[in-house]
Amino acid sequence: MKRGNALVSYESSDEDESPKALQEIVSKKRKLPGLSSAFVPKTPVDNPSLHQGRIRTTPHVEGQYAAYVYVPLLLDDHPALHKLLLKAFTDAKLIVPPLHPIGLAVNANAEDNPSGRAKAVRELHVSITRPIYLRAHQRDELRHAVRAVSLSHSSFKASFAQISELTNDERTRTFLALEVGAGHAELKKLTTALTPTLTSLRQKDFYADPRFHASFAWALLDRPPLPAASALNPSPLPQSPKGAPQVAPSNSPPTTNVAAARDDLDSADNTAPQDPQRFLSIPCFPSDLVPSLNHTFGDTLVSRLIGSFEVTELRVRIGQEVNRFRLRE
Ligand code: AMP
Repeated sequence: MKRGNALVSYESSDEDESPKALQEIVSKKRKLPGLSSAFVPKTPVDNPSLHQGRIRTTPHVEGQYAAYVYVPLLLDDHPALHKLLLKAFTDAKLIVPPLHPIGLAVNANAEDNPSGRAKAVRELHVSITRPIYLRAHQRDELRHAVRAVSLSHSSFKASFAQISELTNDERTRTFLALEVGAGHAELKKLTTALTPTLTSLRQKDFYADPRFHASFAWALLDRPPLPAASALNPSPLPQSPKGAPQVAPSNSPPTTNVAAARDDLDSADNTAPQDPQRFLSIPCFPSDLVPSLNHTFGDTLVSRLIGSFEVTELRVRIGQEVNRFRLRE
């Protein structure tokens, strides 16, 4: 992701448009002799092993772009917060080994960075829309709307109040997040201002009861057992003595083609194939995990402005492209 001054870019990538056009040509001309396979667009096959076992909740559709709008928080500008999150992540991972970091500079050779490269950008996101899916021609409508919202709203201060747990709508992943306290009302105004555009794009509005947050870790959740498998092996996973969940390899069939747009987008950094058996899932976080993290780190988070940040810009990620829009001074 680029940094620097606000960049309003309207260039559109038409990488996905040509295959769609070809698809239409292919279906209209069925009576003609078959086209060479070189002309037929390839349908990507979801492979959870390429992104730590995360699976799609929305099938990949050629010419459809996963997108979301968010407030960035660059951790290089917040070293004390970054340090606190690294400690919190390390503590949490001792209790929940299958935990993965989000945006943190966790060691470069770890499983979470299979390429062995340090992450170029240490960045947290406070989402102000749900993950949405756009057709190519809808991308500019979203960018224009975010630009208009940024021009009509001023920058403001926000701060994190506590560590929380959130689960995605599909209950495939659970997250450790810093939850916003001060600044909630201003963030709510931004989401409300985007509602008419989301409605016109036939997309879901943000949560009626939004909990603005920046996720810093996630774990794969156990999937409900497949009927045949549950008949054969109905016993639940045993709990470890400390109440930490026993981990199990996720039972997602590798061909299942289901994920949130955030999952699709965020998987871009993790491209090295891994053994699917390593994608351990948990039934849930142990009930004392979040209270104990808040007990250890909560005071530091809210004191000495460690958890305070300035909201100065909105970003829109559409596919792999990010556009930045500066809020009014
Ligand atoms: P994010 O880090 O923005 O991807 O958010 C992590 C997950 O929290 C997303 O999958 C959201 O669907 C989920 N979530 C659950 N409840 C809420 C809520 N009330 N407000 C915002 N996000 C929520």
